[in-house]
Amino acid sequence: MKSYLILALSLLIGVAKAQSVVLRPDRVFDGEVMREGWAVRVSNDRIEAVGPAAEIRAEGAQLIDLRGTTLMPGLIEGHSHLLLHPYNETPWDDQVLREARSERVARATVHARKTLLAGFTTVRDLGTEGADYDDVGLKQAIDKGIIPGPRMVVATRALIATGSYGPKSFSPDIEVPQGAEEANGHDQLIQAVRRQIGKGADVVKVYADYRWGLMADARPTFTLDELKLMVEVAASSGRAVVAHAGTAEGMRRAILAGCRTLEHGDAGTPEIFALMKERGVALCPTLAAGDAVSQYRGWRKGQEPEPERIRNKRTTFRQALDVGVTICFGGDVGVFAHGDNARELEMMVDYGMAPLAVLRSATSVNADVFGLTDRGRVKAGLLADLVAVTGNPVQEMGAVRRVKLVMKGGKLVTTP
Ligand SMILES: [Zn+2]
Repeated sequence: MKSYLILALSLLIGVAKAQSVVLRPDRVFDGEVMREGWAVRVSNDRIEAVGPAAEIRAEGAQLIDLRGTTLMPGLIEGHSHLLLHPYNETPWDDQVLREARSERVARATVHARKTLLAGFTTVRDLGTEGADYDDVGLKQAIDKGIIPGPRMVVATRALIATGSYGPKSFSPDIEVPQGAEEANGHDQLIQAVRRQIGKGADVVKVYADYRWGLMADARPTFTLDELKLMVEVAASSGRAVVAHAGTAEGMRRAILAGCRTLEHGDAGTPEIFALMKERGVALCPTLAAGDAVSQYRGWRKGQEPEPERIRNKRTTFRQALDVGVTICFGGDVGVFAHGDNARELEMMVDYGMAPLAVLRSATSVNADVFGLTDRGRVKAGLLADLVAVTGNPVQEMGAVRRVKLVMKGGKLVTTP
Protein backbone atom coordinates (compact mmCIF):
# COMPACT_ATOMS: atom_id res chain seq x y z
CA MET A 1 0.00 0.00 0.00
CA LYS A 2 1.19 3.46 -0.84
CA SER A 3 -0.37 5.12 2.15
CA TYR A 4 1.85 4.01 5.05
CA LEU A 5 3.56 7.33 5.42
CA ILE A 6 0.43 9.33 5.85
CA LEU A 7 -1.06 6.79 8.18
CA ALA A 8 0.61 7.89 11.39
CA LEU A 9 -0.01 11.54 10.62
CA SER A 10 -3.62 11.05 9.71
CA LEU A 11 -4.22 8.92 12.80
CA LEU A 12 -2.94 11.82 14.87
CA ILE A 13 -5.00 14.35 13.01
CA GLY A 14 -8.09 12.16 13.03
CA VAL A 15 -10.86 14.29 11.65
CA ALA A 16 -9.09 17.41 12.97
CA LYS A 17 -11.30 19.73 14.95
CA ALA A 18 -14.39 19.19 12.88
CA GLN A 19 -16.91 17.06 14.73
CA SER A 20 -18.67 16.35 11.46
CA VAL A 21 -17.48 15.33 8.03
CA VAL A 22 -19.38 15.28 4.75
CA LEU A 23 -18.11 12.82 2.15
CA ARG A 24 -19.05 13.49 -1.47
CA PRO A 25 -18.26 10.58 -3.80
CA ASP A 26 -19.79 9.94 -7.24
CA ARG A 27 -21.98 7.23 -5.75
CA VAL A 28 -22.62 5.35 -2.54
CA PHE A 29 -22.95 1.58 -2.32
CA ASP A 30 -25.14 1.43 0.78
CA GLY A 31 -24.56 -2.27 1.44
CA GLU A 32 -27.44 -3.31 -0.77
CA VAL A 33 -27.72 -1.08 -3.85
CA MET A 34 -25.73 1.56 -5.71
CA ARG A 35 -26.95 5.14 -5.18
CA GLU A 36 -25.69 7.63 -7.78
CA GLY A 37 -25.04 11.16 -6.54
CA TRP A 38 -25.42 10.42 -2.85
CA ALA A 39 -23.36 11.85 -0.02
CA VAL A 40 -22.73 10.87 3.61
CA ARG A 41 -22.48 12.97 6.77
CA VAL A 42 -20.46 11.54 9.64
CA SER A 43 -20.63 12.81 13.19
CA ASN A 44 -18.11 11.55 15.73
CA ASP A 45 -17.92 7.77 15.23
CA ARG A 46 -21.29 7.32 13.53
CA ILE A 47 -22.98 7.89 10.20
CA GLU A 48 -25.38 10.78 10.79
CA ALA A 49 -27.11 11.01 7.42
CA VAL A 50 -26.97 9.51 3.96
CA GLY A 51 -28.92 10.52 0.84
CA PRO A 52 -28.88 12.63 -2.33
CA ALA A 53 -25.97 15.12 -2.02
CA ALA A 54 -28.30 18.16 -2.17
CA GLU A 55 -30.16 16.92 0.90
CA ILE A 56 -27.08 16.35 3.07
CA ARG A 57 -26.44 19.35 5.33
CA ALA A 58 -22.89 20.68 5.00
CA GLU A 59 -22.85 23.41 7.68
CA GLY A 60 -20.21 23.00 10.32
CA ALA A 61 -18.71 20.02 8.62
CA GLN A 62 -15.36 19.33 7.02
CA LEU A 63 -16.05 18.63 3.35
CA ILE A 64 -14.18 15.78 1.68
CA ASP A 65 -14.37 15.80 -2.10
CA LEU A 66 -14.35 12.22 -3.32
CA ARG A 67 -15.09 12.85 -6.98
CA GLY A 68 -14.44 9.80 -9.13
CA THR A 69 -15.00 7.35 -6.30
CA THR A 70 -17.55 4.89 -4.98
CA LEU A 71 -18.09 5.07 -1.23
CA MET A 72 -18.92 1.79 0.48
CA PRO A 73 -19.28 0.36 3.97
CA GLY A 74 -15.91 -0.72 5.35
CA LEU A 75 -15.42 -4.21 3.94
CA ILE A 76 -15.81 -7.23 6.21
CA GLU A 77 -13.31 -10.02 5.66
CA GLY A 78 -15.07 -13.24 6.62
CA HIS A 79 -12.09 -15.58 6.95
CA SER A 80 -8.66 -14.32 7.90
CA HIS A 81 -5.65 -15.59 9.86
CA LEU A 82 -3.71 -12.51 10.91
CA LEU A 83 -1.22 -14.80 12.66
CA LEU A 84 -0.28 -16.57 9.42
CA HIS A 85 1.63 -15.36 6.39
CA PRO A 86 1.78 -16.83 2.87
CA TYR A 87 2.89 -20.46 2.72
CA ASN A 88 5.20 -19.76 -0.24
CA GLU A 89 7.20 -17.55 2.13
CA THR A 90 7.25 -20.08 4.97
CA PRO A 91 5.38 -23.41 4.95
CA TRP A 92 2.54 -23.65 7.47
CA ASP A 93 4.34 -26.36 9.49
CA ASP A 94 7.37 -24.10 9.92
CA GLN A 95 5.26 -21.13 10.97
CA VAL A 96 3.66 -23.27 13.67
CA LEU A 97 6.85 -25.04 14.83
CA ARG A 98 9.78 -22.72 14.06
CA GLU A 99 8.56 -19.15 14.43
CA ALA A 100 8.60 -17.62 17.91
CA ARG A 101 5.21 -16.45 19.12
CA SER A 102 6.72 -12.99 19.49
CA GLU A 103 7.68 -13.02 15.81
CA ARG A 104 4.22 -14.18 14.85
CA VAL A 105 2.59 -11.38 16.83
CA ALA A 106 5.01 -8.81 15.39
CA ARG A 107 4.06 -9.98 11.91
CA ALA A 108 0.36 -9.87 12.82
CA THR A 109 0.59 -6.17 13.71
CA VAL A 110 1.88 -5.51 10.19
CA HIS A 111 -0.86 -7.69 8.70
CA ALA A 112 -3.50 -5.80 10.66
CA ARG A 113 -2.32 -2.45 9.31
CA LYS A 114 -2.20 -3.71 5.71
CA THR A 115 -5.72 -5.10 6.06
CA LEU A 116 -7.14 -1.82 7.32
CA LEU A 117 -5.36 0.24 4.65
CA ALA A 118 -6.89 -2.02 2.00
CA GLY A 119 -10.36 -0.96 3.19
CA PHE A 120 -11.19 -3.98 5.34
CA THR A 121 -12.38 -2.48 8.61
CA THR A 122 -13.55 -5.78 10.16
CA VAL A 123 -12.14 -9.29 10.02
CA ARG A 124 -13.51 -12.55 11.32
CA ASP A 125 -10.20 -14.18 12.26
CA LEU A 126 -10.71 -17.93 12.27
CA GLY A 127 -7.94 -19.38 14.36
CA THR A 128 -4.44 -18.53 15.55
CA GLU A 129 -2.93 -21.77 14.14
CA GLY A 130 -0.72 -22.59 17.08
CA ALA A 131 -0.42 -19.07 18.49
CA ASP A 132 -2.79 -19.82 21.37
CA TYR A 133 -4.84 -16.77 22.38
CA ASP A 134 -2.67 -14.14 20.70
CA ASP A 135 -5.60 -12.93 18.57
CA VAL A 136 -7.30 -11.72 21.76
CA GLY A 137 -4.41 -9.42 22.68
CA LEU A 138 -4.04 -8.29 19.08
CA LYS A 139 -7.71 -7.33 19.01
CA GLN A 140 -7.36 -5.44 22.29
CA ALA A 141 -4.26 -3.56 21.07
CA ILE A 142 -6.24 -2.43 18.01
CA ASP A 143 -9.29 -1.48 20.06
CA LYS A 144 -7.11 0.56 22.43
CA GLY A 145 -5.59 2.43 19.47
CA ILE A 146 -2.07 1.14 20.10
CA ILE A 147 -1.73 -0.23 16.56
CA PRO A 148 -3.87 0.41 13.47
CA GLY A 149 -6.00 -2.50 12.35
CA PRO A 150 -9.48 -3.76 11.63
CA ARG A 151 -12.12 -4.56 14.22
CA MET A 152 -11.69 -8.26 14.98
CA VAL A 153 -14.09 -11.12 15.59
CA VAL A 154 -11.78 -13.81 16.97
CA ALA A 155 -11.92 -17.59 17.27
CA THR A 156 -8.77 -18.13 19.40
CA ARG A 157 -7.29 -21.65 19.09
CA ALA A 158 -10.07 -23.53 17.24
CA LEU A 159 -11.00 -27.15 17.99
CA ILE A 160 -9.81 -30.35 16.38
CA ALA A 161 -10.40 -34.03 16.99
CA THR A 162 -7.26 -35.79 18.22
CA GLY A 163 -5.04 -36.99 15.40
CA SER A 164 -6.82 -35.05 12.71
CA TYR A 165 -4.77 -31.90 12.23
CA GLY A 166 -1.14 -30.87 11.84
CA PRO A 167 1.77 -30.53 11.89
CA LYS A 168 1.99 -34.26 11.17
CA SER A 169 4.20 -36.96 9.64
CA PHE A 170 6.64 -36.92 12.52
CA SER A 171 7.73 -40.05 14.33
CA PRO A 172 4.73 -41.49 16.19
CA ASP A 173 7.03 -41.60 19.23
CA ILE A 174 7.05 -37.84 19.73
CA GLU A 175 4.32 -35.37 20.58
CA VAL A 176 4.22 -32.41 18.19
CA PRO A 177 2.43 -29.16 19.11
CA GLN A 178 -0.71 -28.77 17.04
CA GLY A 179 -2.17 -25.85 15.10
CA ALA A 180 -5.39 -25.99 17.16
CA GLU A 181 -6.70 -27.46 20.42
CA GLU A 182 -7.38 -31.18 20.52
CA ALA A 183 -10.52 -32.19 22.38
CA ASN A 184 -12.92 -35.10 22.15
CA GLY A 185 -16.06 -36.43 23.72
CA HIS A 186 -18.59 -34.95 26.08
CA ASP A 187 -16.63 -33.48 28.99
CA GLN A 188 -13.49 -32.41 27.13
CA LEU A 189 -15.42 -30.64 24.41
CA ILE A 190 -17.64 -28.76 26.86
CA GLN A 191 -14.54 -27.64 28.77
CA ALA A 192 -12.61 -26.62 25.68
CA VAL A 193 -15.46 -24.59 24.20
CA ARG A 194 -16.06 -22.86 27.52
CA ARG A 195 -12.35 -22.21 28.02
CA GLN A 196 -11.92 -20.65 24.58
CA ILE A 197 -14.97 -18.46 25.12
CA GLY A 198 -13.72 -17.52 28.58
CA LYS A 199 -10.39 -16.41 27.15
CA GLY A 200 -11.99 -14.22 24.51
CA ALA A 201 -13.41 -16.22 21.60
CA ASP A 202 -16.23 -14.34 19.86
CA VAL A 203 -16.94 -17.36 17.70
CA VAL A 204 -16.04 -21.04 18.05
CA LYS A 205 -14.20 -22.64 15.13
CA VAL A 206 -14.21 -26.41 14.67
CA TYR A 207 -12.67 -28.66 12.05
CA ALA A 208 -15.48 -30.96 10.94
CA ASP A 209 -13.12 -32.75 8.60
CA TYR A 210 -9.46 -32.74 7.67
CA ARG A 211 -6.69 -34.84 6.14
CA TRP A 212 -6.90 -37.10 9.14
CA GLY A 213 -3.82 -39.18 9.98
CA LEU A 214 -1.33 -39.88 7.23
CA MET A 215 -3.77 -40.27 4.34
CA ALA A 216 -3.99 -37.54 1.73
CA ASP A 217 -7.80 -37.41 1.70
CA ALA A 218 -9.92 -35.33 4.05
CA ARG A 219 -12.36 -37.33 6.18
CA PRO A 220 -15.03 -36.30 8.71
CA THR A 221 -13.59 -36.06 12.21
CA PHE A 222 -16.06 -35.10 14.96
CA THR A 223 -19.24 -37.15 15.22
CA LEU A 224 -22.58 -35.45 14.70
CA ASP A 225 -23.22 -35.62 18.44
CA GLU A 226 -19.88 -33.98 19.23
CA LEU A 227 -20.63 -31.15 16.81
CA LYS A 228 -24.14 -30.71 18.23
CA LEU A 229 -22.69 -30.54 21.73
CA MET A 230 -20.22 -27.79 20.79
CA VAL A 231 -22.98 -25.80 19.07
CA GLU A 232 -25.21 -26.15 22.13
CA VAL A 233 -22.50 -24.99 24.56
CA ALA A 234 -21.47 -22.06 22.34
CA ALA A 235 -25.10 -21.05 21.76
CA SER A 236 -25.63 -20.89 25.50
CA SER A 237 -23.12 -18.02 25.52
CA GLY A 238 -24.71 -16.36 22.49
CA ARG A 239 -21.89 -17.43 20.20
CA ALA A 240 -21.96 -19.22 16.88
CA VAL A 241 -19.90 -22.17 15.72
CA VAL A 242 -18.21 -22.06 12.34
CA ALA A 243 -16.98 -25.25 10.76
CA HIS A 244 -14.09 -25.95 8.48
CA ALA A 245 -15.78 -28.49 6.18
CA GLY A 246 -14.62 -29.61 2.79
CA THR A 247 -16.12 -33.09 2.42
CA ALA A 248 -19.80 -33.69 1.74
CA GLU A 249 -20.21 -35.74 4.93
CA GLY A 250 -18.30 -33.22 7.07
CA MET A 251 -20.52 -30.50 5.66
CA ARG A 252 -23.68 -32.54 6.26
CA ARG A 253 -22.82 -33.10 9.93
CA ALA A 254 -21.89 -29.44 10.45
CA ILE A 255 -25.15 -28.29 8.88
CA LEU A 256 -27.29 -30.70 10.91
CA ALA A 257 -25.43 -29.71 14.09
CA GLY A 258 -26.40 -26.08 13.60
CA CYS A 259 -23.10 -24.47 12.61
CA ARG A 260 -23.57 -20.90 11.36
CA THR A 261 -21.14 -20.95 8.44
CA LEU A 262 -19.19 -23.61 6.59
CA GLU A 263 -15.68 -22.75 5.49
CA HIS A 264 -14.37 -23.95 2.09
CA GLY A 265 -17.08 -26.49 1.09
CA ASP A 266 -15.02 -27.73 -1.83
CA ALA A 267 -16.71 -31.12 -2.23
CA GLY A 268 -20.25 -29.91 -1.64
CA THR A 269 -22.99 -31.40 -3.81
CA PRO A 270 -26.33 -29.96 -4.99
CA GLU A 271 -28.03 -31.97 -2.20
CA ILE A 272 -25.67 -30.61 0.46
CA PHE A 273 -26.10 -27.04 -0.78
CA ALA A 274 -29.89 -27.50 -0.76
CA LEU A 275 -29.61 -28.61 2.88
CA MET A 276 -27.53 -25.49 3.67
CA LYS A 277 -30.16 -23.30 2.05
CA GLU A 278 -32.96 -25.06 3.95
CA ARG A 279 -31.17 -24.70 7.33
CA GLY A 280 -29.96 -21.15 6.70
CA VAL A 281 -26.27 -22.05 6.87
CA ALA A 282 -23.94 -19.74 4.91
CA LEU A 283 -20.95 -20.80 2.82
CA CYS A 284 -17.60 -19.05 3.00
CA PRO A 285 -16.02 -20.39 -0.20
CA THR A 286 -12.35 -19.27 0.22
CA LEU A 287 -11.72 -19.37 -3.53
CA ALA A 288 -8.48 -17.43 -3.25
CA ALA A 289 -6.91 -19.91 -0.80
CA GLY A 290 -7.34 -22.84 -3.21
CA ASP A 291 -6.05 -20.68 -6.04
CA ALA A 292 -2.98 -19.69 -4.02
CA VAL A 293 -2.20 -23.21 -2.77
CA SER A 294 -2.47 -24.64 -6.29
CA GLN A 295 0.08 -22.08 -7.46
CA TYR A 296 2.38 -22.82 -4.50
CA ARG A 297 2.28 -26.46 -5.63
CA GLY A 298 3.52 -25.52 -9.07
CA TRP A 299 0.49 -24.54 -11.18
CA ARG A 300 1.45 -21.67 -13.47
CA LYS A 301 -1.80 -19.74 -13.64
CA GLY A 302 -2.53 -18.22 -17.00
CA GLN A 303 0.06 -20.43 -18.71
CA GLU A 304 -1.25 -23.88 -17.86
CA PRO A 305 -4.81 -25.24 -17.83
CA GLU A 306 -6.60 -25.07 -14.49
CA PRO A 307 -5.89 -28.10 -12.29
CA GLU A 308 -8.74 -30.45 -11.35
CA ARG A 309 -9.05 -28.87 -7.90
CA ILE A 310 -9.77 -25.46 -9.42
CA ARG A 311 -12.18 -26.82 -12.02
CA ASN A 312 -14.08 -28.69 -9.31
CA LYS A 313 -14.20 -25.57 -7.16
CA ARG A 314 -15.72 -23.58 -10.01
CA THR A 315 -18.38 -26.28 -10.38
CA THR A 316 -19.33 -26.55 -6.71
CA PHE A 317 -19.33 -22.76 -6.21
CA ARG A 318 -21.69 -22.48 -9.17
CA GLN A 319 -23.92 -25.18 -7.63
CA ALA A 320 -24.07 -23.26 -4.34
CA LEU A 321 -25.01 -20.06 -6.20
CA ASP A 322 -27.68 -21.86 -8.23
CA VAL A 323 -29.30 -23.26 -5.10
CA GLY A 324 -29.25 -19.80 -3.50
CA VAL A 325 -26.97 -20.54 -0.55
CA THR A 326 -25.99 -17.38 1.34
CA ILE A 327 -22.39 -16.64 0.37
CA CYS A 328 -20.05 -15.04 2.89
CA PHE A 329 -17.06 -13.24 1.48
CA GLY A 330 -13.94 -14.73 3.04
CA GLY A 331 -10.71 -15.68 1.32
CA ASP A 332 -8.71 -17.48 4.05
CA VAL A 333 -6.27 -14.59 3.78
CA GLY A 334 -2.98 -15.41 5.45
CA VAL A 335 -2.60 -18.34 3.07
CA PHE A 336 -2.01 -15.45 0.65
CA ALA A 337 -0.86 -11.93 1.50
CA HIS A 338 -2.69 -9.74 3.98
CA GLY A 339 -3.89 -6.57 2.29
CA ASP A 340 -4.57 -8.60 -0.87
CA ASN A 341 -8.04 -9.51 0.44
CA ALA A 342 -9.55 -8.14 -2.81
CA ARG A 343 -8.25 -11.23 -4.57
CA GLU A 344 -11.27 -13.17 -3.26
CA LEU A 345 -13.71 -10.47 -4.44
CA GLU A 346 -12.26 -10.63 -7.96
CA MET A 347 -12.38 -14.42 -7.96
CA MET A 348 -16.01 -14.51 -6.82
CA VAL A 349 -16.84 -12.48 -9.95
CA ASP A 350 -14.57 -14.66 -12.09
CA TYR A 351 -16.29 -17.81 -10.75
CA GLY A 352 -19.73 -16.52 -11.71
CA MET A 353 -21.20 -14.36 -8.93
CA ALA A 354 -22.81 -11.03 -9.88
CA PRO A 355 -20.59 -8.07 -8.88
CA LEU A 356 -23.33 -6.36 -6.88
CA ALA A 357 -23.95 -9.62 -4.99
CA VAL A 358 -20.22 -9.86 -4.28
CA LEU A 359 -20.24 -6.36 -2.75
CA ARG A 360 -23.29 -7.25 -0.65
CA SER A 361 -21.53 -10.40 0.53
CA ALA A 362 -18.53 -8.37 1.76
CA THR A 363 -20.72 -5.85 3.60
CA SER A 364 -24.36 -6.34 4.61
CA VAL A 365 -24.44 -10.12 4.20
CA ASN A 366 -21.36 -10.72 6.32
CA ALA A 367 -22.64 -8.25 8.92
CA ASP A 368 -25.96 -10.10 9.09
CA VAL A 369 -24.48 -13.60 9.17
CA PHE A 370 -21.91 -12.63 11.82
CA GLY A 371 -24.49 -10.76 13.91
CA LEU A 372 -22.67 -7.40 13.57
CA THR A 373 -25.68 -5.11 13.68
CA ASP A 374 -23.65 -1.88 13.99
CA ARG A 375 -21.92 -2.08 10.59
CA GLY A 376 -22.02 -3.41 7.03
CA ARG A 377 -24.31 -0.71 5.66
CA VAL A 378 -24.13 3.00 4.99
CA LYS A 379 -27.07 3.93 7.15
CA ALA A 380 -27.72 6.63 9.76
CA GLY A 381 -26.78 5.44 13.24
CA LEU A 382 -24.29 2.79 12.21
CA LEU A 383 -20.53 2.98 12.79
CA ALA A 384 -18.75 5.30 10.36
CA ASP A 385 -16.60 2.52 8.90
CA LEU A 386 -16.26 3.54 5.26
CA VAL A 387 -14.04 3.02 2.25
CA ALA A 388 -13.89 5.03 -0.98
CA VAL A 389 -12.38 3.47 -4.09
CA THR A 390 -11.64 5.05 -7.46
CA GLY A 391 -14.05 3.86 -10.12
CA ASN A 392 -17.10 1.62 -9.84
CA PRO A 393 -16.52 -1.94 -8.61
CA VAL A 394 -19.78 -3.14 -10.14
CA GLN A 395 -18.33 -2.35 -13.56
CA GLU A 396 -14.83 -3.53 -12.68
CA MET A 397 -14.19 -5.35 -9.39
CA GLY A 398 -10.49 -4.41 -9.52
CA ALA A 399 -11.58 -0.91 -8.49
CA VAL A 400 -11.70 -2.14 -4.87
CA ARG A 401 -7.88 -2.13 -4.96
CA ARG A 402 -7.75 1.59 -5.73
CA VAL A 403 -8.39 2.74 -2.19
CA LYS A 404 -8.75 6.49 -1.90
CA LEU A 405 -9.99 6.81 1.67
CA VAL A 406 -10.52 4.58 4.67
CA MET A 407 -12.46 5.72 7.70
CA LYS A 408 -12.89 3.63 10.83
CA GLY A 409 -15.25 4.80 13.55
CA GLY A 410 -15.31 8.28 12.01
CA LYS A 411 -11.49 8.60 12.02
CA LEU A 412 -9.58 8.92 8.78
CA VAL A 413 -7.04 6.18 8.31
CA THR A 414 -5.97 7.42 4.89
CA THR A 415 -6.47 10.92 3.56
CA PRO A 416 -7.78 11.67 0.06
ZN1 LIG B 1 -8.65 -20.73 7.43
